[in-house]
Amino acid sequence: MDDLLQRLRRFHDDFFPEHQSRFQTLVTDGQHPTTLFIGCSDSRLVPYLLTGAGPGELFIVRNVGALVPPYMGLHGLHGTAAAIEFAMLNLKVSRIVVCGHSHCGAMKALYEEVPAEARNLQGWLDMAREAALPVQVTPEALRRTEQRAVVLQLERLMDYPMVRARVERREVTLHGWHYVIEDGEVHVFDVRTGQFLPASQASHSGTGPYHEPPADDAVVFNEIDTRWGSH
Ligand SMILES: [Zn+2]
Repeated sequence: MDDLLQRLRRFHDDFFPEHQSRFQTLVTDGQHPTTLFIGCSDSRLVPYLLTGAGPGELFIVRNVGALVPPYMGLHGLHGTAAAIEFAMLNLKVSRIVVCGHSHCGAMKALYEEVPAEARNLQGWLDMAREAALPVQVTPEALRRTEQRAVVLQLERLMDYPMVRARVERREVTLHGWHYVIEDGEVHVFDVRTGQFLPASQASHSGTGPYHEPPADDAVVFNEIDTRWGSH
């Protein structure tokens, strides 16, 4: 018997019976996840382990690099954009997490040649080029690129009218995360300092100030880039 088939049977025979009532409730009552999780597809990033979430808690969309397509000027089909709209308008989640990570192949690819036949990948990565730095690629430059990309996606999210409206009404909070695989720790983005803090030292789970935007929050969002340039 092949390994994958064995795993399917193990889920059904061993795991499911213990959790059947939970799944049944989720079918009867429907899903009401509180969090839209936008994460990189990287196999080392395991959202359920990081958050301790179970069935019904996370609405997850994953793609290469944890990228948010621009709301305007879309060409072609964008499953990630559709997922954001669905999570905002239908599920009405109260949190959006954008989760990048260390050693991200997508961010590294910004500094390398992408094979010509990978046309979709090439076009997709173009959405992250703003995050790349005009420097020799080093582990430190990659780390900063990964973090800059997360901030860029938070800004893109605010271009979605249904996201901006609900953030401004304080119905939704945005959380920028950078998961450091080798440390087993998520670093959360703090909009006030423009820096990522290890969760062990942070007082919030990422971009907490969006809870209490200043009178003109547009200024805060426009300032993010400036602050990034200073360190
Ligand atoms: Zn990645």
